[in-house]
Amino acid sequence: MTKVARWLTKLAVFATLLWLLFPARGENPLPNCLYGKYTQGNEETAVEPCGPDTKGIGADTDVQAVMRTFEIPPNMVAFQACPGGRFLAMPNVNDDGHFLVRYPSHVQQNYLAPIVHELAHVVQMRDAGNLAALDPKNNSRRIELGADFLAGLAFNIALRRLNGDDFETNLQLAGSYKVVADDHGPPEHRGQAFRRGLTRMDPYPNLTIVEAMRYWNANDYARIRR
Ligand SMILES: [Zn+2]
Repeated sequence: MTKVARWLTKLAVFATLLWLLFPARGENPLPNCLYGKYTQGNEETAVEPCGPDTKGIGADTDVQAVMRTFEIPPNMVAFQACPGGRFLAMPNVNDDGHFLVRYPSHVQQNYLAPIVHELAHVVQMRDAGNLAALDPKNNSRRIELGADFLAGLAFNIALRRLNGDDFETNLQLAGSYKVVADDHGPPEHRGQAFRRGLTRMDPYPNLTIVEAMRYWNANDYARIRR
């Protein structure tokens, strides 16, 4: 082996070691809610793999009621607990037409509001056809505030007995596990979008969920100051 070859071999071993030691650097192991940079705590924080639905989110009767409201069949979404993760919704790459909703398993919080927000993303992805067609890179604020609006509708239709203020506060959990700014929008805009759904004023009582989402996109979204 020549001196140069030995040197190149050492360099390759060193690079492999670096890659093994810092796999999260420069990569986005998980999307941020729907897209974007994944960070949890800070960029040095290790990310553990996601596992089974240890909190039983899929068996929660409120979650099931919201899924019925959103017309999402029970077997269309698999819930996964992520020890170092955050709330997010994504297509299930191993199961065409199905989705994953992931949640952080390391915090003691009210999970319902952010889970409903993520289920609203499933409604959006289904309607668009897939995640790419939803165009999250160029439509991110509209999509995120649209999910908050749909969460408000779900609260009105399926979760009336719960306290709306609590729900609105906990909605901020979707998007709060990060250090970089994301496109969920400022809390006041998220609150406005949520309340628009929550009040469910005309014409929304006469619309299906998908019709309501489209109406909101075409008419109400622009009313929220950006
Ligand atoms: Zn979101």
